[in-house]
This record gives sequence, structure tokens and C-alpha cells, in this order.
Amino acid sequence: MAAVCNTEFYPAKKFQRSQRALNRKETLNMDISEFKRNAHELVEYIAKYYEEIEKYPVKSPVAPNEILSRLPTSAPGRSESFDAIMKDFNDIIMPGMTHWQHPSFFGYFPANGSLPSLLGEMLTAAMGAQCMSWATSPAASELEERVMEWLRDMTGLPSNFTGVIEDTASTSTLTSILTAREKFSNYNINESGFSRGENIQFTAYCSSECHSSIEKAVKIAGLGKDNLRKIGVDKNFAADAAMLETAIKKDIFDGKKPLIVVAGIGTTGSTAVDPLEKIGEICQKYNIWLHVDAAYAGTAMLLPELRHMIKGVEMADTLVFNPHKWMFTNFDCSAYFVKDREALIRTFEILPEYLKTPEKERVNNYRDWGVQLGRRFRALKLWFVIRSFGTEGLREKVRSHINLAQYFADRLSKNGNFEILAPHPFALVCFRYKPAGVTGEEKINAINEKVMNDLNKTGKLFLSHTKLNGNFAIRFCCSQTNVEKRHIDAAADLIIAECAKQ
Ligand code: PLP
Repeated sequence: MAAVCNTEFYPAKKFQRSQRALNRKETLNMDISEFKRNAHELVEYIAKYYEEIEKYPVKSPVAPNEILSRLPTSAPGRSESFDAIMKDFNDIIMPGMTHWQHPSFFGYFPANGSLPSLLGEMLTAAMGAQCMSWATSPAASELEERVMEWLRDMTGLPSNFTGVIEDTASTSTLTSILTAREKFSNYNINESGFSRGENIQFTAYCSSECHSSIEKAVKIAGLGKDNLRKIGVDKNFAADAAMLETAIKKDIFDGKKPLIVVAGIGTTGSTAVDPLEKIGEICQKYNIWLHVDAAYAGTAMLLPELRHMIKGVEMADTLVFNPHKWMFTNFDCSAYFVKDREALIRTFEILPEYLKTPEKERVNNYRDWGVQLGRRFRALKLWFVIRSFGTEGLREKVRSHINLAQYFADRLSKNGNFEILAPHPFALVCFRYKPAGVTGEEKINAINEKVMNDLNKTGKLFLSHTKLNGNFAIRFCCSQTNVEKRHIDAAADLIIAECAKQ
């Protein structure tokens, strides 16, 4: 077993001290005074964690099954103290955490949070409300309605869009496909299923660069993976609208019914921007549902100067973006906007006796706006974030991330041994090391993969990768809430030094 649990990295030692607490008389229920004491300690722990977060290795260095081997194989029979639990949290769990809130977390897209959001989450946990319907917490329902209006207006989305908070973009996209399926089958598939229904053979379309959640949703919705057309992309990795139209025409000719196109604004690999306006016109021409997946990049719509990227959005039927990716709101919080709210509700509404309430259609019962019945009070943290930052504060932060990404790309370009592999309209830079004299794609791919893994092992930063044009591309996403220029400089220095060793 690797020596991972080096508690040097884990500065919050407080919970290792208390033998007294370990030997405490067991109680069956934490009372309020004990809760207060523990909660104060926990807040101190959290504050210290954030103060010292840069001391932690960004990526957890543990080996597979290492944490598992340190956990008892059966649950405790008797009550254990908070201090005992926290000691194990510190010693066993913390070493196995990858620190997504570390400013040098540059991998994937972030799941960035913020302290205001964390406070909102605390209150959500404190309320412990299950917000499935208006009656189960009127404030949760009405706050969600209002913050989604704010979000729609802050991001320049059309005023005839209505928003709802889903858990993830994957769920939002599934919700969109299911709604399209029902609307275009006159709600028959919900009634009779595919086999006894009209036997429509629906087809779906997205670019070859779009996220895997689309394929997953197509499968779950019963359309079948074989009926998802992955459209080719141009040199900037954006969907080729002419190829899309050709594919649609062929399907119509073959007797199929093109159901839905998913346009990506900020694809996962390289944040390519599909030509939304052209795609929208095609959808209108052939009467096809249009969903926009802007999971990460949608936050950039806060910036009026970037809204040209969503020109044509009024032709979309639905759009999703994740405040939990780039808008400083803790996971999970996915903002899903829909034009035809009635179609959405008609697709999902189900009303057994035990869910009936007297308010009926005068209120929003969000249990009918998606897959899940039970819902967390997610609007609260979003409200905390929007009010604490203010729209302008959010804009400043997003702009600073985009500028830092440009700065990073400039630093690598100036070095001369790196290639920037795709346009970077937001805050993700895809690059590879390609020094003069080294040839052969296989060799270059292997060097880059090794460099990335070696860099991640240092614990000083975290990077992830994709493939672009079949070649290994390192992704550097500069959207962590607290990232600053000094983190970019440190990362660029480290990357350049590590590459020079190859
Ligand atoms: N769409 C895009 C473009 C993404 O990049 C991702 C995740 O990175 C998703 C969808 C899925 O997001 P979620 O984890 O919220 O389902």
C-alpha cells in the first residue's frame, strides 16, 4: 500500500487530539448543546480547510481500494462520538479526496463552489425540506421561480423561456428528449409505449463532439443509439450545419421522423460552439425540436459581449447550463429552460391521490417538471450566490477566468514547444507539447500522456485530457472560483519544466 495518508498534508489536526471525546459516554441522540459545540468546531474546520486548501495535493494520491481497506467491514453497533467520526474523516477520508475547490484544479470542467453557496447549502440541510410541490414548501417553489427568472434575464435568454432547477445537465437533456418525444407523438408513447404506439422511428442529431449524456438520454428515452446521428465537425470542432441538413433529409427520405437536434455551446472536449442560428433555421424548416447543451459555457452568457454565440437561441425549445460548473454554485444545480412549459408538464405530470393539493395550477409543483419526485431546495444556494456576488460581480469573475485562459495560452505559445489545439472562446485551453524535432503522432501522444500523469502526481495541479483529431490533448480549464494569475504562472512554469524533462 502506498504511503498516502501522510497527515502532514491534512492540516486540520484538531480532531486527532481528544481522547476524552473518544471515551465519551455514548448518547443515542445528539442534543442541541452538543450540536452547537460540534457545529462551531466544524465551521472552524471548514474555514481552516479553505484557508489552507493550497497545501493539499490537488489530486488524491491514494491507490485503488486503499480507503476501503481502512474502513470497518461492518457498521458500528453503538453510538460513536462526533470527535471520533471527525478523526476518521480527517485521517481516512480526507487523503482520498481530490480537491475540486483548489485554485489549481484545472481538470474536466470544474464543479466550482463558493462560500456564499456553501452557506446556502448549510441552510438547505438545516431545513431538510423535500420540495416536491408548492405545498411542501411554498418558499422553495416561489424562490425557484424567481431566481430562474433572474437567471434567464441575467443571461439574455428569451423572456418566453421558463426555468427549473434539475440536478444535472444529463437529467435536463433527458427531460428535453422525453418532452420532444411526447409532443411529437401526441403523448402516445407515454400512453402506449413504442411497441403499441404509432411505431414512429424517431432520429436524433448532435455533433461528434457533443457530450456522452446525449447518447445516454437517447438510449434511456427508447430512441435507440442507432438512431442518434453524430454529425461531422469543421476545423474548429463545431457541428457542420450542411452535414446536419443532409443527414436529416436522408432520414426523412428513409421514412424516419427527425425528432431532436442537440446543439452544443461549449462542447466538452474543446468548448466548440455549434452554429446555433443555422441549426435553428434547419430545425424550423423540418419541424424538429432544438435543445441547447451549454452545460459549462452557458455561464458566459452573463457577458453581453459573448452573447453572439447564442444568436438564434429564440429558436431553441430548451436550453441547459450548469451554475454548478462555472457560476460558483455548489454541485448540484443545473438550470434548465423550456419554451413550452405545458408540454413539459404534460410529459411528466402524474397525480396519485396522495400528491393532490388544493392549489392546483395556481402554483408551480416542480415534481411535474422532470424525472424526480423528491427535490432538494437548490434555489437557496443560487439565491445566496446571485445576491452575494451581484450580477456584475459574477461577470467580473467570469471575465477574469477568460482572460487568465488567454494569458495561459500566450505563455505556452511564446515558449515555442507547445501547440494550442483548438480555439478557446471561454476559459478552457487544449494544448500539447510538441517540441521541434519530435515527430510521429504516436510518440507525441505518449509523451503528452506521460507528462500529464506525472504532473498530476506532483499534487500541485490537476489536468485532464481528451482527444482532438484522434490525438492526445491536455485540457486546462481555468474556471475554478478562486484561481488567480499566480496559479496560472505556477502551472505554466511547472508544465514547461516537466515537458523539458522528456
Ligand atoms: N454537457 C456538457 C457539454 C458537459 O461538458 C457535461 C459535463 O461535463 C455534461 C453535459 C454533463 O453534465 P452533468 O454532470 O451536469 O450531467
